[in-house]
Formats: sequence, C-alpha cells, structure tokens
Amino acid sequence: MAAPFSWIRPEPHGIHVGPADCWIDPSRAVDRALVTHGHADHARGGHGQTVATPATLAIMDLRYNTREGATPVEYGETIRLPGGVDAAYIPAGHVLGSAQILLEHAGERVVVTGDYKRRADPTCPPFEVTKCDIFITEATFGLPVFCHPPIAEEMRKLLDRLAAHPERCVLVGAYALGKAQRVIAELRAAGHHEPIYLHGAMERMCRLYEEHGVSLGELRLVADHTKDEMRGSIVICPPSALNDRWSRRLPEPITAMASGWMRVRQRARQRNVELPLVISDHADWGELTRTIEEVDAQENWITHGREDALLRWCQLHQRRARALALVGYEDEDD
Ligand SMILES: [Zn+2]
Ligand SMILES: [Zn+2]
Repeated sequence: MAAPFSWIRPEPHGIHVGPADCWIDPSRAVDRALVTHGHADHARGGHGQTVATPATLAIMDLRYNTREGATPVEYGETIRLPGGVDAAYIPAGHVLGSAQILLEHAGERVVVTGDYKRRADPTCPPFEVTKCDIFITEATFGLPVFCHPPIAEEMRKLLDRLAAHPERCVLVGAYALGKAQRVIAELRAAGHHEPIYLHGAMERMCRLYEEHGVSLGELRLVADHTKDEMRGSIVICPPSALNDRWSRRLPEPITAMASGWMRVRQRARQRNVELPLVISDHADWGELTRTIEEVDAQENWITHGREDALLRWCQLHQRRARALALVGYEDEDD
C-alpha cells in the first residue's frame, strides 16, 4: 500500500496528481492540465489536454485560441482520469465557469478550491461545501483586516455619486474577467437600467458572459459615442486604463475602482481612485475561516496569497495545516 495521499503533491509549478500524471492550474505548459477557472494565473495556454468547465474552456479559447485538446466537464459531472483518479468539478462562486476540483483516488478525497468566494454572485452558481480529507484553499485575502462589505452598499455608493453629478460620468476600473460583469449585473439588480458604456477591451468577455446566459442589459462602446451622450452614465474599463489618455474622451470622469484591495487606502491612492469600491471575487477572512470549519478536513493546505495568518489560525483552532509555496500566482487586481 502506498502512503496516504502520496498520489497528490504540491510542486512549485502546480499541484501534481501522480497516477494520472496531470497538473492542477500549472504555471507552465504541461501534457495534461486540470484548470479551475479562466484567470491568467490559473489558466495558461499551450497544454496538450485541458480539462475544465465549458465556460472556462470558452474563456481560454477567447484568450489563447486553445480549442485543441479541450475536454469539457460540466458541474457535478465526474470524469475518470488515467491511473484510477476521478475528478469532479464543483461550483466555486468566483467567476463564470469557476470550479473547485474534487479528486478521488484509493478512497481518499482531495478538494482544490482554486479561487472562491461565499457571497452571492448573479454571474455564477454559488460555492458548494464539499467534504474531503485534504482541503487545498486559496488565501488571497487571508488577513483578519479583510472583511468585504455587502455589495449592495457599494452599489449604493456608486449610484449616489452618479446621481449627485449628472453632468459627469463615473469611470469604474474593474478586472476584465469576472469583476466587470458582476458589477454590471449587480447594477441591474439595484435597478440601474440605463445603458452602460464599455472600454473596447471589455466587449468580448461581456458578450461571452451573455452567450452563457448572464444578462447584462444594454451595453455601449465608448468609442461609438460622444462626450455629451455619456454624461450621467457609468463607464467600465480595465484597471490599467483608469489613468490612461483614453479617459480624456469621457465627460469629467469620477474615478472609481472595484476591488477587494480598495480596503487598503494606499492602494486606492496609488491609482488616484476617488471612489474606492470594496468588491472582491475572493473569500474574505471570515469566509476563509468559516469554509475551513465547514469543510472540516483532516488537513488544510493553504496557498495563493497570505498563507501565514491562516496557517496560524488553523494551529490555534487545532486544525492541521501547511502552507504551500507555489509560484506564478498574482493578485489579479481583484
Ligand atoms: Zn481568479
Ligand atoms: Zn487566482
């Protein structure tokens, strides 16, 4: 008998599943990759075979033209990999198509969360707590200071500011995959049905969301409209365009940014953000610790962010844990 869990190993470039010779979210091209979701630090091009949800595969195809070798797995479906390893994809509540991956081998169960959150999100199904022996969790916002406010509060701030300045516009910097579409869908849920203007770089991803059943209402391209038409409107752009020459075509923009990092005042200042909106697609400290409790695994492996505080929390709560040292993960401006 092999030692328990010797079939799954953290390596610097990803989690390796020995009997199936495959990698989860590898940071370099491999023969067989299981991908949790479409963000660039998890989904890379160039793999021989890519196993992911249909939406994640569509996102990867849009970004890297990687239709070849794509193996779709629906939520709740289990596929058999070589070496007697079963993999199931379970909603992670992070962005469209995002999944946790449950691996089962020799009666042992491991869950890899990828990125996740526990808050409701109109653009993807909610995170499902899945019992397992080893729980491999992200820790992007793994410090007690991170406590994301309800998104309705942040939407209210945004709409109030817009109403107070009908001659201007509010320019919201938002990550192009996930955050932008969630902000638009939440604005619609808050009763804002005016056209929303988009930077050209957001257009294709918004269309892809709509093709996957997420309604975003009337979207217009900034390039097709005059300054006067955009007065009193919300404009969405990638964070990199916030302080760019591009924004000169807008009517006196009030600069906002939607990100969990907006909790940190210095980050808002660095980007000259007047209206910081604390909106994240990652679990905050309370969600991370609650999830570890609910999953109640024998062992927790912590990765992708601020591992130390969460490791300490596990120790204080008599939970076995270790921090992994994977390379190539970024904050993804989230
Ligand atoms: Zn992500
Ligand atoms: Zn990530």
